[in-house]
Amino acid sequence: MSACPAQCIVMRRDREGFDYPFINNPDLCIGCGKCEKVCPVLNPLEVAEPLEVRAVRSEQHVSGSSSGGVFPALAERIISEGGVVFGAVVGDDMTVGHAEAVDMAGVEKMRGSKYVQSDLYASYEDVRYWLGEGRKVLFSGTPCQIAGLHKYLGKAYDELVTVDVLCHGVPSPGLWEKYVKALEKKHGARMEYVRFKDKSQSWRHYAFTTSLGTCPYTDDPYMALFVQDMTLRPSCYRCAARGGRSGSDLTLSDLWSVQRCAPEMSDDKGVSGVYVNTVKGRELLDSLTGLCSRTVDMALSRQDNGGFHDPAVVPAKREEFFAGVHSCNDLLKHMKSYIVRKPLWKRAYRALRAFLSACKKKILK
Ligand SMILES: Cc1cc2nc3c(=O)[nH]c(=O)nc-3n(C[C@H](O)[C@H](O)[C@H](O)COP(=O)(O)OP(=O)(O)OC[C@H]3O[C@@H](n4cnc5c(N)ncnc54)[C@H](O)[C@@H]3O)c2cc1C
Repeated sequence: MSACPAQCIVMRRDREGFDYPFINNPDLCIGCGKCEKVCPVLNPLEVAEPLEVRAVRSEQHVSGSSSGGVFPALAERIISEGGVVFGAVVGDDMTVGHAEAVDMAGVEKMRGSKYVQSDLYASYEDVRYWLGEGRKVLFSGTPCQIAGLHKYLGKAYDELVTVDVLCHGVPSPGLWEKYVKALEKKHGARMEYVRFKDKSQSWRHYAFTTSLGTCPYTDDPYMALFVQDMTLRPSCYRCAARGGRSGSDLTLSDLWSVQRCAPEMSDDKGVSGVYVNTVKGRELLDSLTGLCSRTVDMALSRQDNGGFHDPAVVPAKREEFFAGVHSCNDLLKHMKSYIVRKPLWKRAYRALRAFLSACKKKILK
């Protein structure tokens, strides 16, 4: 849509609640084929092996972020140099989309993972505009969004730094919007804010928190179905941008294997596994102060993050689930009925570990 010189493409929502490009006015189409040339799915992307993987944490930023707080640390540097930062934010109506920031107040809204596909709006055009003005730009997003940006720009810019999150898939924006409405109806109040990954008690056993309440993420139907890969965009199951194909300078992940990779940083506050993909990315990371950072064994760091190599597998009941979203009378009940519960002993073990981890954190405070 952004690349079309005739502006004849719009985004259209399908029955599952995902947006797709659609030629709105075929009479305006000049047949240039640009939309296909910039598509990172139609044009295979090359794999780039990371130079190294690091365990990183910013003590200043860790608490308000999803893993080690690397993104806000990078953003702070770009802002201090007069640059512009792009990232995903939650709007007042709880929809998720990309925004730009020229100060840290704007960056604050980009912090934290939002488990919904983010609408890019016109951010590719805005990135090109700021680069044309000679400003530094930090663009963050999912691997496919980074790959799409590079294809859209068509050339490398010294002033552009791209950062992706290690992503195993993005859920449906349409389903999220329906879920928000269903929760609001149940509670008889508006949802004022959401933290998809609230790690104030524990990073490993994080909570799903909104203005309407909080619970372990495994107990929330929207989150439970997300981690079960039930609600992902169909293209995520054959992701073309995963595994070092996005062209990003840095890839940010949760270093779940921190206990084995960097045990001295393992205190349940959150640690990022940062894949350093380019020299530019390494230079930016090295220029930051106040980071706790060390190189880790790449093989170890990937062990608990299968999503880097292999795409999610389509659950057998995915189609049936989405068909039911339209026909059901009670969305919350419908969603709950598709949650695959782990055996009781596993749930009890998990709850006990979460409890002990929270106690340990309190004692250490
Ligand atoms: C949909 C999704 C799936 C993920 N899956 C995994 C995974 O399987 N394994 C893993 O190790 N890590 C995963 N992550 C990444 C991880 O949880 C952290 O977001 C990442 O490590 C950055 O954390 P931080 O502490 O440095 O910064 P934070 O302050 O948490 O920064 C958040 C960053 O994520 C970007 N972001 C947030 N939501 C979206 C969105 N919906 N679309 C595009 N960009 C977004 C923001 O723009 C910002 O750059 C996922 C993130 C998302 C958004």
